Amino acid sequence: MAFELPQLPYAHNALEPNIDERTMQIHHTKHHQGYTNNLNAAIEGTDMEGKNIENILLNLDMDNKAVRNNGGGFYNHCLFWEVMTPKGGGTPSGAVADAITASFGSFDAFKETFATAAKTQFGSGWAFLCVHKDGSLDVCGCPNQDNPLMPGVGCGGTPILGIDVWEHAYYLNYQNRRPDYVSAFFNVINWDAVNARLAKA
Ligand code: MN
Repeated sequence: MAFELPQLPYAHNALEPNIDERTMQIHHTKHHQGYTNNLNAAIEGTDMEGKNIENILLNLDMDNKAVRNNGGGFYNHCLFWEVMTPKGGGTPSGAVADAITASFGSFDAFKETFATAAKTQFGSGWAFLCVHKDGSLDVCGCPNQDNPLMPGVGCGGTPILGIDVWEHAYYLNYQNRRPDYVSAFFNVINWDAVNARLAKA
């Protein structure tokens, strides 16, 4: 069964003014659709066909550029839409809050670490908050559509939060002001979804 572009759990304009409607529309229906189509084409007729995306990325041959770029793109954007909500922002509660305090000392220290990773990722890429097998959390930046599920990439944990810092994610509204976009992202983080991903990891 081929991968399908997920529907968003909110309207394209729902994250305004933090992320504008036109950016969301193009990002979701053009960019993410493109990664999805290209991933399906790249795995068709291979032993990856029919496997779930986590399984494909965990066992990825990093020289397989088509699956690396488009499988990463498919997974990363599914994560990105899921960890945002118009009712987001604020500070986390529950297990994520405890894990953040244990790993970073405080929510503010985490925020600083995550924002710095996002702002300093050179060129296109992502910043992720990940959980390791021992339950500790880590932040890492990754280039292009790489993510830490892939062999030898980033901190090696399981991503539970991610921000897309490709220019297509913010340029229409923020132009070169990536730091403003990163600040705005904190207003739409869906901490319930991050908690759910932590529980599953
Ligand atoms: Mn993107």
